[in-house]
Amino acid sequence: VGDSADFDREVESICPFCGVGCQISLKIKDDKVKYVEGINGPANEGRLCVKGRFGFDYIHHDHRLTKPLIRREDAPAKGLNVDPANWQEFFREATWDEALDFAAKGLMDIGGTGVAGFGSAKCTNEEAYLFQKMIRQGFGHNNVDHCTRLCHASSVAALMENVGSGAVTATFNEIENADVAIAIGCNPIENHPVAATYFKQFTKRGGKLIVMDPRGQALKRFSSHMLQFRPGTDVSMLNAIMHVIVEEELYDKQYIEAYTENWEAEKAHLKDFTPEKMAEVCGIDAETLRDVARTFAGANAAMIFWGMGVSQHIHGTDNSRCLISLALMTGQLGRSGAGLHPLRGQNNVQGASDAGLIPMFLPDYQSVMNDGVRSAFTDVWKSGDFSSEKGLTVTEIMDAVHDGDIKGMYVLGENPAMSDPDVEHARDALAKLEHLVVQDIFITETANYADVILPASAFAEKSGTVTNTNRQVQMGRPAVPPPGEAREDWWIEVELAKRLGLGWNYQSPADVFAEMKLNMKSLDNITWERLERENAVTYPSLSPEDPGQAIVFADGFPRPDGRARFTPASIIAPDDVPDAQYPMILTTGRQLEHWHTGSMTRRSKVLDGLEPEANCSLHPSTLRKLGVTAGEHVRLSTKRGSIEIMAREDRAVSPDMVFLPFAYVEAAANILTNPAVDPYGKIPEFKFSAVKVEAVQTQ
Ligand code: SF4
Repeated sequence: VGDSADFDREVESICPFCGVGCQISLKIKDDKVKYVEGINGPANEGRLCVKGRFGFDYIHHDHRLTKPLIRREDAPAKGLNVDPANWQEFFREATWDEALDFAAKGLMDIGGTGVAGFGSAKCTNEEAYLFQKMIRQGFGHNNVDHCTRLCHASSVAALMENVGSGAVTATFNEIENADVAIAIGCNPIENHPVAATYFKQFTKRGGKLIVMDPRGQALKRFSSHMLQFRPGTDVSMLNAIMHVIVEEELYDKQYIEAYTENWEAEKAHLKDFTPEKMAEVCGIDAETLRDVARTFAGANAAMIFWGMGVSQHIHGTDNSRCLISLALMTGQLGRSGAGLHPLRGQNNVQGASDAGLIPMFLPDYQSVMNDGVRSAFTDVWKSGDFSSEKGLTVTEIMDAVHDGDIKGMYVLGENPAMSDPDVEHARDALAKLEHLVVQDIFITETANYADVILPASAFAEKSGTVTNTNRQVQMGRPAVPPPGEAREDWWIEVELAKRLGLGWNYQSPADVFAEMKLNMKSLDNITWERLERENAVTYPSLSPEDPGQAIVFADGFPRPDGRARFTPASIIAPDDVPDAQYPMILTTGRQLEHWHTGSMTRRSKVLDGLEPEANCSLHPSTLRKLGVTAGEHVRLSTKRGSIEIMAREDRAVSPDMVFLPFAYVEAAANILTNPAVDPYGKIPEFKFSAVKVEAVQTQ
């Protein structure tokens, strides 16, 4: 922190990390960000966490890409680690014209379904919209996706199916008006820290917080109930709770009759899930399950929050279906203090999905299979039709690359060489590509495989809108110029599209936003000028003066007959269950200080100083059994591979479990993870793999 003497101007923007979407003021001197303060945004009211406050200096890191790079003809093999200080061995500098011509020609030479694209939830709404448009208009298909596939795709699948909309039904701030809340499979103090402050205030006012997670966590201290259930048994636990609500007739009969369908099937399905039977499965005693059921059903207003502990399973969609059913049967939707809230991960994962950066939907979740929808877009784009088939998802695209069906890729801001499950498979695939265009701010692990690298802009160097977990569309503003010849991402996309013959002529992100509004009803009453003025507007906004609706679905749902649906869920075991060879359970996730694959936070002095070394968490009794002291190294092995990593003692993990953050390239968690996916959301089971843990013998 500093004072006004330390800066010569200040610019308001949005924190680039998590989906909370905190508004910040960047204090600038000599075109460098000196420090950051929280300002009064709707999601943060001045608050920031350690990442938002201290995690910005990566934008000035000397590893930043400052010129377009083309792979040298005599470069060593693709995939070898490119030392940022010695990239000349692998790449040569190019002019923008040369690099863009080369990038476009390589993609066009392959063409059609031989090309696929990964966009990014780190980019703005306008950049996400342009990216999906480029693949659809330029290559005629829908093989375009982004990291929502690794995050909340199963939650969105269940919400779309049963509620008719993939976004939250109430902002997290609505917890202020609740008297009971469930937080399941999420760890907000680490992953959505500013949202967690609202959770804590809620409990201080007497709100009952029911935390459900196989791993203990700091929120436990604030909870009325802590259910540390067995990993992968969410459906049995949730069905048992709903069984009690049915058995004791605690459900909201009027709400069910007025606003839902398929209740009788749900009721019949729940019959067998007695708490006594399910206690055996989930490890939570029957009386606690009954107490939770009564507490939740007895609330005046209750909310359900969930994170990737729910979604990243092969039964992630079923987990979410249960949560939706629980809210529906108790009538906890569509009013103050009630609702469903999947806590979104990245700062623009909601917006990137809204903008159509997914293989089955055009912007606003309009199906690519609907002829009328496609023609509404091609009318605006002034181009011919494109495929009516759903495209391939992230992991399917990697499989297709492996099989030789996809030979060219455009990767903007994603890092599949670190983020994909069974990452050696993804790395093998990337090495097989004939032409890989990577657009990023650093030479990422994925850029190690690139044929051409386009130097892009960090959040503080560009303008554009982002949409947070609360459905709040917010304005990001440029505060400092990009380094060297790096350019704003939208500019790079437009220049590439021109070379693909698409005739794009946008002059600014505002032009793109204006086009998005033509086919996105969610943006009604939200204009670029309004966002410039107000910083944030929540969608839906009912008039140019309406700040937006914090709560939706007061009068029914965007589904046939306006009714939400109960979809019963049965127990499905995790895919890779422990056995004699791999007897423990591996679960992966994030830490407070590091963000995803670490490309930004590990280049931030404060954050990397706080968490400098790759580590995994083990229960003290497990360490004792292994003969390992905290700080020593262990070897983790699954059916996919092995890593060696420093062990940390942590009572929050159960004795049969290992928690492993995925930010560290030197001990990449995804070497170990299982690529099996949920059949609906196509999300990999990052939260459950069978693992062997061994002490590493030191000399
Ligand atoms: Fe940034 Fe999320 Fe922290 Fe807010 S809570 S400062 S958005 S990382």
